Amino acid sequence: MALLEIKNLHVSLEGGTEIVRGVDLSVDRNEVHAIMGPNGSGKSTLAYALMGHPAYEVTEGEILLDGEDVVEMGADERAQRGLFLAFQYPHAVPGVTVASFLRSAVNAIRKARNGGEDDPIKIPEFRKELTAAMDSLKVPKEMTSRYLNDGFSGGEKKRVEILQMALLKPQIAVLDETDSGLDIDALRIVADGVQSLVGPEMGAVVITHYQRILNHIEPDFVHVFADGRIVEEGGPELAHKLEAEGYEAFAPAGAAAGGES
Ligand code: ADP
Ligand code: MG
Repeated sequence: MALLEIKNLHVSLEGGTEIVRGVDLSVDRNEVHAIMGPNGSGKSTLAYALMGHPAYEVTEGEILLDGEDVVEMGADERAQRGLFLAFQYPHAVPGVTVASFLRSAVNAIRKARNGGEDDPIKIPEFRKELTAAMDSLKVPKEMTSRYLNDGFSGGEKKRVEILQMALLKPQIAVLDETDSGLDIDALRIVADGVQSLVGPEMGAVVITHYQRILNHIEPDFVHVFADGRIVEEGGPELAHKLEAEGYEAFAPAGAAAGGES
C-alpha cells in the first residue's frame, strides 16, 4: 500500500455542490505526481480536501495516510502526520516574522510527535537548519526578519513556503499552482527546491494548469483532471502532449478550458 491512498473520493462545497467526483490516487515517497487540468475542474478543491479545509466536505471515499483514514482529522493533525499543502494564495500575517513563524510551525509538529508535550527545538539547532535550508533555496538572509508574506512578491511567498516545507520535512507535499505568478528565475528556484526535497523521505503532488513547472520537476506520473475526475493517466510524455494539444479533448462539452482563475 502506498503512503497516501485516495479511494473513490467525493468532495462537496458547503452548499452541497459536488466538485470532486470519485478520485483514486496512490502516492508514495520518492514519487512526483502531476495533476493537470483546466481551471475550475476541481484541483484546488481536491487539495483543500486532502488538507482538511472545513469548507470542503468529503461525502464519500477515503484518504488513507500510512493506512489510517484521515478524513475525520483536522488540518493540524494531518500536518503532524506528514501532509503538507502549499497554497495557491498564501496569506499575509503582519506582526509575525518569517523566522518566528517557521519556528512555531516546527515546534507544533515536534510537540505533536512528542505525544502532546512541548519539545521546542533549541535555538542554535533551529538557526543551523534554517540557514542550511535558506542557502539551498537561495532565500536572502534579510527575509527571515520580515513579517510573513507582508508585501512579499509572488516569488518570495512561494520561496518561504518551500522553506517551510524543507523545515517541516513532510512525507507528502501537495503543491497547488506553486508556479502561478512566478517569473522564470523564481520558478526555477522554487522548482529546484521542491525537486531537491523529493526522495526517500518525501513524495510530492504537483497541481498545475501549465506544463512549465514540469520542465523543472520531472513527474513520474501525470494525471489529467477534468470535471472532478481523473480522466487520463500516463508518464511525463502526457504533460508534453497536454502542452501541445491543450485540454479541449478532456473538457466537458461547452466548458471553457482557458483563462486564469
Ligand atoms: P481548479 O483549482 O481546478 O481551478 P477549484 O477547485 O478551485 O478548481 O474550483 C472548482 C469549482 O468549485 C469552481 O466552479 C469553483 O468556483 C468552485 N469552488 C471551489 N471552492 C469554492 C468555494 N469555497 N466557494 C464556492 N465555490 C467554490
Ligand atoms: Mg486551483
